[in-house]
Amino acid sequence: MRTGVWCERALRNGQVETGVRLSVDSAGIVAAVETGTQPRPGDLVLDGVVVPAASNAHSHAFHRVLRGRTHTGGADSFWSWRQGMYQAAAALTPELYEELATAVYAEMVTAGYTSVAEFHYVHHRPDGSPYPGHAMELALGRAAQAAGIRLTLLDTCYLAGGFNEPLADGQLRFSDGSAGAWLDRLKDLRHSFEAEFDPAYVSVGAALHSVRAVPEDALQAIAAGLDPDLPLHIHVSEQPAENRDCLAATGLTPVQLLHRHGLLGPRLAAVHATHLTPEDIQLLGDAGATVVMCPSTEADLADGIGPAAALADAGARIALGSDQHAIIDPWLEMRALEHGERLASGTRGRFAPADLHRAVSDAGAAAQGRRAPGFAPGTSCDLMSVDPASTRTAGSDPAQLALAATAQDVTAVVVGGTLAAERGRHLRLGDPGTLLASAAAKLDAAVREGQP
Ligand code: ZN
Repeated sequence: MRTGVWCERALRNGQVETGVRLSVDSAGIVAAVETGTQPRPGDLVLDGVVVPAASNAHSHAFHRVLRGRTHTGGADSFWSWRQGMYQAAAALTPELYEELATAVYAEMVTAGYTSVAEFHYVHHRPDGSPYPGHAMELALGRAAQAAGIRLTLLDTCYLAGGFNEPLADGQLRFSDGSAGAWLDRLKDLRHSFEAEFDPAYVSVGAALHSVRAVPEDALQAIAAGLDPDLPLHIHVSEQPAENRDCLAATGLTPVQLLHRHGLLGPRLAAVHATHLTPEDIQLLGDAGATVVMCPSTEADLADGIGPAAALADAGARIALGSDQHAIIDPWLEMRALEHGERLASGTRGRFAPADLHRAVSDAGAAAQGRRAPGFAPGTSCDLMSVDPASTRTAGSDPAQLALAATAQDVTAVVVGGTLAAERGRHLRLGDPGTLLASAAAKLDAAVREGQP
């Protein structure tokens, strides 16, 4: 069955067009586009300014519970934040995680995200033994299904506590024990997901936690054994300490180490890439890799400002992720990407608004191996509509909304041609705030129970 979606105004490639009507096929893919039209009976009518929906290229859903809780004063650091994160990770069960992730994904959908790359490493029980039947991963798949967000579950290889360091107790549940065991579980997980979910909505990708957590012999085994079609993500050079440790252990930067093992390429997404050498930038650019910037997280954790424009100039593709979810707002991530560049360079206009939209939508979808969201034939009919006359946006040039709007201004979110959220409310699940409060309270109780 075909349906129609009519947009009062659509922002396409930096240009505003009026009366844009999309014919959408039964798979939710745009089949045809007309402009200067009126809506037809039965069309989904989107007022305001419609843009391609956002793709969240980096998420750890459970980190959402740390929002607004890690800012006590002088003792705060990346590493003290990580302690709080480990406490939450220790308390997760498949039931608690399904409820929490459903709420977090509902928040994402109301903010304008219609896909998410979930970087998932809490895949075993706290003692390191496996769950039967991929319980944790299926819980996340069902959470995405309930929230109506497209999920690429990046099952993560995590084998060591650092260079030449064993896993700490709190990290046991992140590990498969060896690269071979991780590759085997990943293969089986793909079969389970294919049997359970529509791959246009819920699918599996791969991730390596970092070069700290995946020793060199494992990198080699993974380079040889991983299906080349799978998206592969990895945290790279988020903190200077990682670079120092990597240089001391291997004589190479993390990017050089990945290059040595043939892991750089168009399917690779390097997450953060904050502290890079000029050679690292060139290697990532020459490889046509994606770099996932997470500006709200990088600011929150005092990581630093990554060289996004230099990476883009070198040939890398820039995507955006909300990572630890101190903020879930694709508009603020777009703005923070450009603002970081301005603050670091003393120059304005490093990324044009159209570049920011491409980073937050097309590049994030490509990094998940997904069809781009948008208006062109062959794209997923994943869209968001923004109020151009709100307190924040009134008077703005619609082509420059990336520098003015926030998720508060998102009036409608469409996934596969179907309305999923309206004015902050998830159509099936209601108010994400209520869901988040309930899920966070349950996880807090579990954390308290788990403490000695
Ligand atoms: Zn991360």
